[in-house]
Amino acid sequence: MIAPIFAANWKMNNGPTTAREFMLSFCSQYPRQNDRTIVFFPPALSLHAVAAAMGDRRDILLGVQNVHWEDQGAFTGELSVPLARDAGARLVLVGHSERRHVFGETDEECALKCAAVERGGLTPMLCVGETLDERDAGAAEDTVTRQLRAGLSRMTQLQHRPITIAYEPVWAIGTGRNATPEDAAAMHAVIRAQLDDLCGDRSRATSILYGGSVNPGNAASLLAAPGVNGLLVGGASLDPGTWLAITRA
Ligand code: PEP
Repeated sequence: MIAPIFAANWKMNNGPTTAREFMLSFCSQYPRQNDRTIVFFPPALSLHAVAAAMGDRRDILLGVQNVHWEDQGAFTGELSVPLARDAGARLVLVGHSERRHVFGETDEECALKCAAVERGGLTPMLCVGETLDERDAGAAEDTVTRQLRAGLSRMTQLQHRPITIAYEPVWAIGTGRNATPEDAAAMHAVIRAQLDDLCGDRSRATSILYGGSVNPGNAASLLAAPGVNGLLVGGASLDPGTWLAITRA
């Protein structure tokens, strides 16, 4: 069994000051645990403050919410994998729904980003998920399969290096309407079958997280759904008490 991952996506919230206070509070209440991994995706500007407040907590990993696919250069406002790694990031969110639907990120850009993350020795967390229209049209599985295969298409070490996947139906993100455990399990099975094909034996070590309106009331049942190896949480990760409750699911 894969140890569950609890990942907090803070989006554009928690600057260095509040991020530091959050982490001091969280770390004082969350003892080291070997049976689960906690990941924080703070805003890049807060990465240093979070890392400093965490101290030597190796059971907690840090990530960034987005990167450019080039390693360096004249890309004002962008963030590269080498910069993220130098700042302490171990994971990178790629293709989050808001990147795709607010900023128009394409499958091809996600592929370039996943390849850059692999090249730089970090772990991508590739997000995939259908819109409500796609689900209603019966195209959810096709959409997720397309996003998954396209996003991983430029990676060359799929059978050797870790990756993580997050299934995040667009209609569930920030809406208060989570997928049922049955719906999540069904889509996770589709993703797992694709990973078996793409990654071979490595697939079994690849975590597939569910994300979309997770809260302390539904976290345990979603995590118990077959094939769900962790949770990616937005809004409910912003309050230390609520986040603590979810990490105990
Ligand atoms: C997310 O942003 O990845 C997310 C799942 O958001 P929320 O938990 O707020 O739905």
